[in-house]
Amino acid sequence: MKNLRSSGIDLIGSISWGTHIGQLYTDIEEYYKTMIPFIKAGLLDNELCIWIYSNKTCYEEVKERLKTGIPDIDTYITGGQLLIKSHVEWYLKNGKFDADITSKHWSRHLSLALSQGYDGLRAVGDTSWIEINDFDKINIYEEGISKDITELPFIVACLYDARMLSTYEIAEIIKNHTFTVVRYKDKYKLIHNTGLQIKEQIKERSMEMYKRLVQFLPVSIIIHDETRIHMCNQSAVALTGLKSTHELLGKRLLDLVPPTLRTKAREHLRNAMHSSAESSYLQSEILCNCGEIKPVKIVTIPYGLGESNLLLSVIMDLTPFMRINELIEDVERHKQLLNLSLEYNRLKTEFFTNISHELRTPLNVILSVIQLLKLQSERLNNWDIESKYIDMMKQNCYRLIRLVNNLIDITKIDSNYFHLELRNYDIIKLVRDITNSVAEYGKQRGLYIHFSCNSASKVMACDPDQIERILLNLLSNAIKYTPSGGSIWVDVYAGDNALDIRVKDTGIGIPKDKQQYIFDRFMQVSSSTMTREKEGSGIGLSLVKALVEMHNGTISLISEPGAGSEFIIKLPIRLIDIEEPCRINSCPEFNHAERLVVEFSDIYS
Ligand code: ADP
Repeated sequence: MKNLRSSGIDLIGSISWGTHIGQLYTDIEEYYKTMIPFIKAGLLDNELCIWIYSNKTCYEEVKERLKTGIPDIDTYITGGQLLIKSHVEWYLKNGKFDADITSKHWSRHLSLALSQGYDGLRAVGDTSWIEINDFDKINIYEEGISKDITELPFIVACLYDARMLSTYEIAEIIKNHTFTVVRYKDKYKLIHNTGLQIKEQIKERSMEMYKRLVQFLPVSIIIHDETRIHMCNQSAVALTGLKSTHELLGKRLLDLVPPTLRTKAREHLRNAMHSSAESSYLQSEILCNCGEIKPVKIVTIPYGLGESNLLLSVIMDLTPFMRINELIEDVERHKQLLNLSLEYNRLKTEFFTNISHELRTPLNVILSVIQLLKLQSERLNNWDIESKYIDMMKQNCYRLIRLVNNLIDITKIDSNYFHLELRNYDIIKLVRDITNSVAEYGKQRGLYIHFSCNSASKVMACDPDQIERILLNLLSNAIKYTPSGGSIWVDVYAGDNALDIRVKDTGIGIPKDKQQYIFDRFMQVSSSTMTREKEGSGIGLSLVKALVEMHNGTISLISEPGAGSEFIIKLPIRLIDIEEPCRINSCPEFNHAERLVVEFSDIYS
């Protein structure tokens, strides 16, 4: 059943079902000219057609007139597709217009049309019989018809004798019809009821927008009653995990709730139905198609107009909120763990600092006593026997002091308590002096220590004490791991922006697979190196690396097992305006000679 119908009137063209045409005529000829083609189009288009004539004419006259445009009119009349009726039997009851009777006639004939296989109903009604007193009644009725037929397969044209109407009545007629046909100087004109059209357009547009809004709202909306869901939006389909709206329509809202929660849900729906427009909500669950259960909040309000039992339920998926709550709880838990670990770290640092100081104090006391004892034994001339033991004790004190110092410093560096005392200092002189100071020591172990540089001096910002520690560490390792007869080179190269210090030996070298871990804390190449001759804590190189990096420098290694190792330090050359204030780092109480003994304490002479 197509929606667009031919009106048969050139001026109008196609019309849709539900069109309500008005015609204002001043001469009866006018409406025959337009309405005969109008009815003919309906007959050709498989519509049941009715012509209702007024008191100004009669059945025979109408039939004769129609015959002029529809020659085979008798076939249509006998076939029952064209009915010609008098206004008296159609509109009137006891000689007066009766809206009820009229409406019944229309609806009975519309059903008749559809039951007999016609596409719909088309009618022409001459209303010019109206007595002036009945106008208000028929006006209200016409206004209703305009609204009622919009959705029906029904087209109707009403004819009005303009000569009998006041201007008010004419205006009302124009308002109540989709458009009105009038004659103007031998031609027909259409007056569009723009007010009605605009109203319809606005209604249609807002209906469309409302439908879209409901369809695309991120919450699920369901219109339902006890028996089934009548309407739902896309979110509702997505929530239930079904494939299409079609699958959800026909189910009950209760079918979506897990069986154990249905009693509560039923109660919620019953309460919503009997409460006022105020919403009530239910915290429940939805059983999805895939078997997953989603937590939801269901808000339900009565949606019915009049006696209807319709309910509107808005279903909100609480899964994201639950997830957010879980995340918030997670963050809170992690925050507590972090605080705990920060506190633990603080306590650990405090403990290390305290314990290291605790260790160092008695060591210093023991060392002082040993030195006194040694002096005493020299004076008493029993030096030979006791001196050997005293030296052993002293050596071990120095080793413990080195370990404690390294532990203190690594802990301080870790907790950002360690600071360089930068000064503009001649680093070449510094490195040369340190190298020279250990040369004699190396010689005693059969090692030759060489120094070379490309420049006599280079003043740059550095912490001389820490440069000394770096170098003594590297040199003590070189001495430790180079057999007698080998050589050690300390080479300084001052460029424009950077200074290289290389410490190279011809010692045992470092296995390739261990080279990448050599600067890691507590790393020792192999446990078999833990001999009395080569003891160590594995802290030295990690401390060296940390101190180099505090100078914004880098340290790297080239080593060949069996052929020797070369440590390369690169430091940026820069000067500072203000020298750092002196802070106390580790080992403040020792001079250079003592520091050397401490750093070399791992090596047994
Ligand atoms: P340690 O205090 O044990 O010497 P280091 O951090 O100074 O610790 O050195 C880590 C390991 O690197 C040492 O145990 C040693 O095996 C290796 N090593 C360091 N320097 C050299 C070197 N010049 N020649 C050979 N092996 C070295």
